[in-house]
Parts: sequence; C-alpha cells; structure tokens
Amino acid sequence: MQRNISEELYSEAKNYFPGGVSSPVRAFKSVKGTPLFIKKGNGSQIWDEDDNQFTDFCCSWGPLILGHNNDAIREVIVETVANGTSFGTPTRWENKLGALLLKNNRFIEKLRFVSSGTEAVMSAIRLARGVTGKDKIVKFDGCYHGHADSLLVNAGSGLATFGVSSSAGIPASFANETLVLPLDDLEAVETTFKAHGNSIACVIIEAVPANNGLLLQRPEYLQGLRDLCTQYDVLLIFDEVISGFRVGFEGAAGYYNIQPDIMTYGKIIGGGMPVGAYGASAEIMGHVTPDGNVYQAGTLSGNPVAMAAGFTAASQLLEDGFYEKLEATTQDFVAKIQSYCDNKGYEININTIGSIFWISFTKDEIRRADQIDGASMDKFKILHAYLLDNGIYLGPSGYEVGFISAAHTPSELAAAVEKICAGMDLVHA
Ligand code: PMP
Repeated sequence: MQRNISEELYSEAKNYFPGGVSSPVRAFKSVKGTPLFIKKGNGSQIWDEDDNQFTDFCCSWGPLILGHNNDAIREVIVETVANGTSFGTPTRWENKLGALLLKNNRFIEKLRFVSSGTEAVMSAIRLARGVTGKDKIVKFDGCYHGHADSLLVNAGSGLATFGVSSSAGIPASFANETLVLPLDDLEAVETTFKAHGNSIACVIIEAVPANNGLLLQRPEYLQGLRDLCTQYDVLLIFDEVISGFRVGFEGAAGYYNIQPDIMTYGKIIGGGMPVGAYGASAEIMGHVTPDGNVYQAGTLSGNPVAMAAGFTAASQLLEDGFYEKLEATTQDFVAKIQSYCDNKGYEININTIGSIFWISFTKDEIRRADQIDGASMDKFKILHAYLLDNGIYLGPSGYEVGFISAAHTPSELAAAVEKICAGMDLVHA
C-alpha cells in the first residue's frame, strides 16, 4: 500500500499540531506506520489521499451508524446551511430534535444540547454536584468519559483508590474528588458508599464500557449499582456517548431497562456533526441555568446545521427493525470470524453488543480493565497492519472497539471476514 501523500501530509502536520493531530489516538502511536489522511467516505467505504480504499470499521469512532455520506443527512445539511451556519439563538431544529429524542426515550424528560461528549459529561457532573450539594464522584477503572479534569483519572487496583491523574495539568485536589473503582465489583461500591456515602454526588459509568476493550457488564451488576445508588442517595449517571443510539435508540438504559438519574450523549446524536447532550428528569434538569443555578452555556450549542443532521439521523434510526437488523448483521459477521478462529484453535474471543465488536486475544471472559493483557496488543498491531494493506480500516489501537454501520453491505462484510481471518492466520503464524 502506497502512503506517500499521507506521509507527506503527516510530516507537514507535525509542524502545526502536537503529534501532527487534533486528537491523540489518530497519531497511530499504538500501531505501525503513519496515520492515513482520509479524504472521502461513502457508505462503509473510505478513501485516503493516496487513493487507497478501505472498508471502515472505525466509523469516525462511532457517530456514523448510518455510514459515510448518508444521502438524507447530506441533503439536510446542504439545505440548512444555505440559510446560514449559526445564530446563537434558539432555532426550530433544536425543537425538532429535542421533541423526537424525548418522545422516543423513556429515561429522560428534558435535555440540553452541547457540542461534544466531553462537554456533556462535564456538565452532567456539575449538575450532579449542584443537585446534591456533594463534591466527590465515583468512576470506574477502564471507563473513559472525555478529557475533563475530574474524569481523567486512573486507578491502581484496590478499593476506593483516590484518583491519580492520568494527565499532567490536573491539580491533585481535583483528582482527589474522584474515587476510582474496578468494574464488576458491587462490594467495592458498597464499601465506598459506606465510607464516603454522604460526600458522594454521583457514580458515572459507561453501562457498555467500550473505550478500553469492550468490558460488557453483567445486567445484575448494573441493576445492583442502580439499587446501591438509590439506597445511599447517590445519583447514577450513564455515560451513553458510545452506547446511546447504538445498542438501541434508548441506549444502554433501554437495553438493560435501568433508569439512571442523568444520561450523557454524543457521537451518533449529531448525525456526524459535533453534538453532545445531557438529559434527566424535568426536576433534575430544572437545576440547569436559567431555570436553576447550575451554570452551563455554549456559543455553538444547538447549532442548526448539527441539529438538522441529528434529526435526520435519528429519524432513520427510528425506522421499524433498524436495530434488530443491524444487530443481526453484526452477530453474523462476528460469528463467522469467531468460528474460524475456534476451528483453528486460536485464543480469540470477539466480544459484541448491538453493532459494536472488540477482538480480545484470549478465551477468558473479560469484564475489568486489569484483565486485559497489554502484551496482546502486539498481536493487534500485526493484525492492524495486515488489514490496512488489505483494504480494512480498524481504529488504530487494540483497546478500541469496532463499529458496523447500516451501510456495510453483506458482500463488503463477507470480504472483510475473509481478510480478518487471513489476518488471524498471520497473527498466529
Ligand atoms: N464518554 C464516552 C463514553 C466516550 O466514548 C467519549 C469519546 N470517545 C467521550 C465521553 C468524550 O466524547 P468527545 O470525544 O466527543 O468529547
């Protein structure tokens, strides 16, 4: 595969941007080679600047559940943008998207639009603190919630580790307000609530943890977490930035039928444009300014072009059978690779939910971040490089999940299965 133009562009980009990129994982630090500069996408296919073509399983890290360049979304964007790009006023499109989302989501009564997942989560945490008057928050090792200070903390193992920041530039006093627990361990939650319960505002979790492998949680664990939060008067936040509109229109809350107190959204909600949102009961959202005293604002929030794209995406997701079909397609895709690997005796498990999949290089069931063997990432590197050479684009890190869109056709998926299986042979050669 020729990468001459991407290489040229990348060496130029390094003069302008740290690591040559606008977001770190794009720099291909966890895989081989230089990042590909993508110039075009259509359906499941993307093309780089050297005119290499790929079947895309990254899908812009999740937003593109309808694939690239969806006709209806493109058309509404063009139509809307002809009237201007931004007014900083309320617009009809916000109402349309807000009404559609609330009508079809039993778990929230009001919401506020922002421009990214990070912003949604940051605002939800402030809201939880504002509502409860408490400062501490609980997060889980292996759950990513964007790059806001109080959430960019890691954990050593062990119970109720006070957060150690995983980035420079975060005051220890901020990280100290974040308690980090292992997933899949209700006892750890209860112990922490007993010790710190009256100073904990909220627990935040990706109910479908999909940023550190795919760490699918047991439904009983998620329900247990809900019950403990209720018992100890701690708000429960489901961060649905990936799972929202992905594992079903109502996200993980709908999938597991668990009512969180606050939910955050991003990615799919904007139909490929920058949108995030947070939502809750009318009572909780009543604390947000200007109704209440939890301040949150945004110059470009509710941007009409982005709202129009989100509305047009959501309308397609609500078509009868959309999620059932996409999930069945994904199951079939995963099952074919899994059975090939099983027949060959390869130690591979492909974890999957909805239209998300993740290749785990072990047969062990993995539910916690510390169960992932870092050494297995070398195997992913081999697979990733082989697949790029063979027209398949996976996100450039073995910790990242893959996404299937409604635009992936059966023949594209069949071809991808073949390539991935051949890649597995190479990994195990
Ligand atoms: N929460 C979750 C669960 C995410 O997956 C992400 C992004 N991958 C974020 C928050 C942050 O969203 P953004 O990158 O749009 O700021």
